[in-house]
Amino acid sequence: MEEESTIVEKKDLKSLNSEELKQFCDELDLVGYRADQLYQWLYQKGASSFDEMTNLSKDLRAKLNEIAEVKRITIHSQQQSEDGTMKFLFQLDGPEKYKVEAVLIPDFYPDGVPNRLTVCVSSQVGCMFGCSFCATGKMGYFRNLTHGEIVDQVQIINEIAEEKFGKKITNIVYMGMGEPLHNFKAVVESAKIISNPMGTDLSPKRITISTVGLTKQIMQLADLDIGINLAISLHAADDEKRNEIMPINSSLNLEKLREAVKYYHEKTDNPLTYEYLLFDDFNDSALDAKRLASIARWVPSKVNIIMYNDVAGVALRRAREEKLNQFMKVLTNQRVTATVRRSRGDDIDAGCGQLAIREGQEKGKSMAKA
Ligand code: SF4
Repeated sequence: MEEESTIVEKKDLKSLNSEELKQFCDELDLVGYRADQLYQWLYQKGASSFDEMTNLSKDLRAKLNEIAEVKRITIHSQQQSEDGTMKFLFQLDGPEKYKVEAVLIPDFYPDGVPNRLTVCVSSQVGCMFGCSFCATGKMGYFRNLTHGEIVDQVQIINEIAEEKFGKKITNIVYMGMGEPLHNFKAVVESAKIISNPMGTDLSPKRITISTVGLTKQIMQLADLDIGINLAISLHAADDEKRNEIMPINSSLNLEKLREAVKYYHEKTDNPLTYEYLLFDDFNDSALDAKRLASIARWVPSKVNIIMYNDVAGVALRRAREEKLNQFMKVLTNQRVTATVRRSRGDDIDAGCGQLAIREGQEKGKSMAKA
C-alpha cells in the first residue's frame, strides 16, 4: 500500500493580523508574556527565524519550525546620495521576485549631528492610479504588500539608521510606491505595529499616511481614530488641472474630497497636511496659490510645497525658484501655514518608482485597464 504524504503549508506569522496571531498563540497555549515575546521577536527585534528566539524553549521553537515560518524582505540594492539620502530597493518573497523601494531621508543640525530621520515606505508593488507625474504610476499595479512587508522596511532601515547615525528613525511617511489607502487593512495594521511599544514603538504622531484622496477610506480612517497623521496629495487646486494629472479626480473630485476631509476633521480633530508638487508653468501661478489657500481653509491644515524630482518621460518639470518665491508669498499673505520641501537625492533615483523601473519591473494593471 502506498503511503500518503501530506505537505503541511507553513503559516507566515507576519501575514497574520493581530487577531489571527492571538488565535495562533492560543492554539499553541502560548499566552501572556510568551505571546508577547513572540510578538517582540517578530516586530521589535526583526527575527527571520525561530532559532533566533532564544528566550522561547527549544521544544516550542521546534514546534514553531514545523508549522510556521517568518518571512522577511531583503535588500536587493541601495544607493546613497551626496546629501545623505539613502534609497533601498527591497526584494519581496515569492516567485515573481517583486521589488519595492523605501528611502531614508536624514536631516542634520547645523553642526552635522543627525536630527530627524524620516523613512518613506512603500505599501504596494506598483500603483493603479496612474498620476501622470509619478514613475510608480507608469508601472501599473501588481499586488498589495502585507503588513509584515511594510514593517520589515521600517525595521531594516531602523537597524541601518542606528549603525550609521547612532539613532533610530524618528518619522515614517507612507509616500513610497503605491496608494496606501488602497491597501487599507495592511497599512492600518502596519501603523499599529509600528506605534506599538512591543513593535517599533514610534509615536503615532510621527506616522503620516498620504493619499490621493480615496474618500471612503479617509472616512474609515477617521472612524478608527488611531492618532496617525493624514496627508492629501493634492498637486492641483482646481478640478480641471487635477483631472489632467491625477485620473482619480474624475471620479473623486475636489467637492467629494472636501466632504471627506471635513468628516475626518470632525471625527479626529486632527489637522491635515496638503502635499503640493510645484510644476513649472502648470500649477505655480498666483491664482493657483489663491485656490490652494481656499482649500487649506476647509479645515485646520498646513501645506507642503514640494519641489519636484524630474522623471524621465514626464513632460512636467520642477518649477523655477522665482515662481516658488511668488507662490509662497501669496500663501503667506493668505495666512496659510506653508513650508517648502526641497527635493532630496537628486543625484540618485530618488523619485518614487524610478529605481524599480530601472531594475526592469514589468507593466501591471492601471486604472484604465482595471
Ligand atoms: S502618486 Fe501615488 S497614487 Fe499617484 S500613481 Fe504615484 S504612487 Fe500611485
